[in-house]
Amino acid sequence: MSEPIVVDDQHPSLFSQNKIVTLVSLKLKVVTSICGCVGKCCVIWRKISNADRLPRFIRGGTETTRVYHFWPGKNVFFCRGRLICGPDPRGFLLTAFSITLSSWIFCAYIANDSTLEHSSFITVFAVLLTVSVLINLVTVSTIDPGIIPRNASLASLNDAQLRRIKSRKLVINGIEVRLKFCRICRIYRPPRSSHCTICDNCVEKFDHHCPWIGQCIGLRNYRFYLMFTTSALIFFIYIFAFSCRKINRRILETRLWFFRTISSCPEAFALASFCFVAVWFVCGIVCFHVYLVMKNQTAYENLRRRHVDSPNPFNKGILRNIKEVCFVRLPSSRVDFRAEATSQMCHGGADQLQL
Ligand SMILES: [Zn+2]
Ligand SMILES: [Zn+2]
Repeated sequence: MSEPIVVDDQHPSLFSQNKIVTLVSLKLKVVTSICGCVGKCCVIWRKISNADRLPRFIRGGTETTRVYHFWPGKNVFFCRGRLICGPDPRGFLLTAFSITLSSWIFCAYIANDSTLEHSSFITVFAVLLTVSVLINLVTVSTIDPGIIPRNASLASLNDAQLRRIKSRKLVINGIEVRLKFCRICRIYRPPRSSHCTICDNCVEKFDHHCPWIGQCIGLRNYRFYLMFTTSALIFFIYIFAFSCRKINRRILETRLWFFRTISSCPEAFALASFCFVAVWFVCGIVCFHVYLVMKNQTAYENLRRRHVDSPNPFNKGILRNIKEVCFVRLPSSRVDFRAEATSQMCHGGADQLQL
């Protein structure tokens, strides 16, 4: 039989041990409930998106059958095809949840401090930052990243015939670029495009598939991705600075050892720890993409070491590269997901959807 642990103020080390164990178990419970919530949200997400994906005429409705009902990629659609997302919502939900939770803890426990000057101004600024981060997150994850439509005219070719199709060569700014044939989309991919295996689409100027956003990053949403990462970096630095200020002030007030002080303000310590990791992570991403923008490279090209042995044909100099990414008007989507579906699409799509 083990001796029962008696909490005694005369033995502060035992007391603080008990408190730490309680805090850890509490955090584990919070993490478990967060994971449960995200799981439930995923189920709801899939139910909503699948319901939206089913052609209306099959469900007995009279509404027009649209392209997105039969889209062969793995995307999910909302608002009747106006919003297009990646197939896995977990990353997006987790990112949105952690930003909202951080903002709520900050406003409720850190900014709401009587010793803090201009606390209302600090709270309002934190809320504005949160709103801007969330707007950028929703924008980047719900717009068409630059999906290239599939070639329906080659639908009758079999695998052996498709394998025999060779790649083509194109000269851009005096440098030869190879155009690969995508056997899934049955198209010659335009330069800088690639097939995302997660979304199952060819994407123009494919950068990467971001698991934290749940969407491909390509030609049409890269600018919003930069805005999202930059605003998220400012948000986490802001929260980290004020959380550290609160911990520092508590240490000065109580004059206790650091680890005993944090048990008196666990929310500030948890927020500072989370933001510290987030700042380093997001800062690394922002720095990497600033470098890529200046070089006019995509992350995919950089990781594949595309322009190591040959010069980059798309590099126009730092200023023109920045202008191209940040200020040139974005092209409109190549696919009208809300357009009326043709009978050929309906037939092929129904086969794919196994209806
Ligand atoms: Zn493809
Ligand atoms: Zn993707």
